[in-house]
Amino acid sequence: MRIFPVRGGVHLEYRKELTSEKAIVALPLPKILLIPVQQHMGAPAITMVKVGDSVGKGQVVARGQGLVSAPVHAPTSGKVVEIEYITAPHPSGLPQITIVLEPDGLDQWAQLPDPIADPFAATPAAIRERVAASGIVGMGGATFPSAVKLGLGARNKLDTLLLNGAECEPYLTCDDRLMREHAEEVLDGARIMAHALGTAQIIVAIEGNKPEALASMTKAAAGFANISVATVPVQYPMGAERHLTLAVTGRETPARKLTADVGVVVHNVATAKAVHHAVRFGRPLVSRVVTVSGHAVAEAKNVEVPLGTKVADLLAFCGGLSSPPARVISGGPMMGQPLPSLEVPVVKGTSGILALTAWESNEAPAQPCIRCGNCVNVCPCGLVPVEMAAFVRNEKLENAAQIGLMDCVSCGGCSYICPSHIPLVHYFNYAKGRLNAMDRDRRKRDLVKTLVEARGARLEKQAQARKEAAAAAAAAAAAAQAANPDANRPNP
Ligand code: SF4
Ligand code: SF4
Repeated sequence: MRIFPVRGGVHLEYRKELTSEKAIVALPLPKILLIPVQQHMGAPAITMVKVGDSVGKGQVVARGQGLVSAPVHAPTSGKVVEIEYITAPHPSGLPQITIVLEPDGLDQWAQLPDPIADPFAATPAAIRERVAASGIVGMGGATFPSAVKLGLGARNKLDTLLLNGAECEPYLTCDDRLMREHAEEVLDGARIMAHALGTAQIIVAIEGNKPEALASMTKAAAGFANISVATVPVQYPMGAERHLTLAVTGRETPARKLTADVGVVVHNVATAKAVHHAVRFGRPLVSRVVTVSGHAVAEAKNVEVPLGTKVADLLAFCGGLSSPPARVISGGPMMGQPLPSLEVPVVKGTSGILALTAWESNEAPAQPCIRCGNCVNVCPCGLVPVEMAAFVRNEKLENAAQIGLMDCVSCGGCSYICPSHIPLVHYFNYAKGRLNAMDRDRRKRDLVKTLVEARGARLEKQAQARKEAAAAAAAAAAAAQAANPDANRPNP
């Protein structure tokens, strides 16, 4: 299959060998599960249980609200012992309402929806409804509700489902293992999603450093004429949606547009497996595979983890920490987030838990820029990070936006390559957050202004209507008086 060149990118030390040969193992049920009601992009789900309730595995404990949201299900059977605010590894970094569940050890399923016997005879809407009801979100880390993405065919002309198995972040091998060990399930989920999207072809894209995954997915795809498996270059951030789309289709996604605007919808391989389970067995998303790695972990592993498991419990299952970590990250080292504590739970978007030593973290004090231009060369979005950073440092956020700040995909390639250790991507994340907040405030102010103006106009119209009604009544009374001058004369 033809692969098209993509701009920029970096070649990293991948360190995947720490876990790539470790088959997925299941974590025994922990003593307590912390289940945040927001594990996805969009509106938080609304709690449906109260303290003291007993729940079955897979029971809805929080329902989605609005167009972009996702329900949350109990990862096992047990009792709700607390509902409180707890810091969760969500991009907002804010405490989330969290349902604290004490497992009863029975791991008993609640009443689940019936399997969809023949998904390819079901309507696309029925598939989307099942995916939405199962709480499935983008499991590559984006956590966007998958059912919403499956509805993009309503406004875009789509022809390709691109199954993302690139897994370009260092250390992470959970997708690699999933493709090696569960290729048929992953591919079945992809075929069901393609049916829901109405796309004729499926492309499975895998970086060339995963030969076993390439072999197992190619074997599983044999016999399906509409599925091709593409080997893409080992080049970070190959797994970014728009870059992967460019690499396998040659189609460039315009800035601030979606790949759907060029006919392609991208889903992660773990998402596809979750869809398979939801449709074929009626099982919602209650667990995921997490890579636990880094040289500060005693035994690096790939673990199937019930959602809500505390990071501390997961690390304990991996033999605990072998040395004090310089950083513990949720996700990969390039785009992941540092964890505020080990007491936070594993959530739907947690692809990895990395405990990194100081030498792995490669942290050093920032030095002045030497104008080497490395950051410009590696930026996959064609931006000039050094100039954007200068604007951000001087609080000239609008200027940074004018030269493309909002097109930055936060891949961290520029920070990685910078010989002066300038934390460029931190500047950009901070600035994008500020600009988004300013934009939200501006829209809120505009809305309030519009509402105030509309209210003023409405009151004015009502006053005018009252005035006109009074004038009409007076005119009618005068006309009646003129027609019958004796009507109001008192009787003698
Ligand atoms: S973090 Fe942003 S600016 Fe830096 S290389 Fe990635 S896309 Fe370019
Ligand atoms: S890579 Fe670092 S030192 Fe080089 S130009 Fe960019 S910001 Fe400056």
